[in-house]
Amino acid sequence: MAAPAVESFAVAALRSVMVRVRQAAERSGARAENVRVVAVSKTKPVSLIRDVYDAGHRCFGENYVQEFVEKAPQLPEDIEWHFVGHLQSNKAKTLLSAVPNLAMVEGVDNEKIANHLDHAVSSLGRNPLKVLVQVNTSGEVSKSGVEPANCLELVKYVKSRCPNLEFSGLMTIGMPDYTSTPANFQTLSNCRTEVCKALGINEGQCELSMGMSGDFEQAIEMGSTNVRIGSTIFGPRDYSKKRPN
Ligand SMILES: *Cc1c(COP(=O)(O)O)cnc(C)c1O
Repeated sequence: MAAPAVESFAVAALRSVMVRVRQAAERSGARAENVRVVAVSKTKPVSLIRDVYDAGHRCFGENYVQEFVEKAPQLPEDIEWHFVGHLQSNKAKTLLSAVPNLAMVEGVDNEKIANHLDHAVSSLGRNPLKVLVQVNTSGEVSKSGVEPANCLELVKYVKSRCPNLEFSGLMTIGMPDYTSTPANFQTLSNCRTEVCKALGINEGQCELSMGMSGDFEQAIEMGSTNVRIGSTIFGPRDYSKKRPN
């Protein structure tokens, strides 16, 4: 395929996101290098991901296992892949087998999925897998994530019972329409304070993954170290083409 005559819209959008990330980090006194941008490419074609990769970005996120296992092998091995959102425990092995360069699962919200991931890592003999515990900070019944009150317990479980997982921090989605964003982010930050205090972890060793297309700047200002940005980079998603998970 011939190289595109003009830069892909996604590359231009990525550049603008990176500038906004840097400015938000400066406002909060954080270092922009310490804020990871996960480019969430679900529903988007491999060719568009490749454009963003060719522009130098290396961290991408996917959310549907079936789609992920089809796309990842078509892309370079030095991509740092994140699985974002809820993962069904019976898909853990499939995911890890197909994506050896899976760096992090953002969304462990129960012991069962932690166990399945732990066993999959061990049976494949791969490096420990970084995981974030997902917290339901919006109180919505339909949302995945542990209740804030049960966060510490699940973190303890992962740290003590899952030797092949590396607990790396906490993640939240918040309200999908961003209406209660600051409250949701504050709740996640409070969970981190509690977890770090109880387990004697330095807060710098416990990531906060919060912030998406509509609220990533505010999330960074409130301490996010990992933002998951989809549509602002890749354009709106067309769910009529979504494959079943
Ligand atoms: C899709 C998705 C995102 C990205 O959402 P945008 O609003 O498009 O930036 C972030 N996090 C999770 C868990 C997602 O599923």
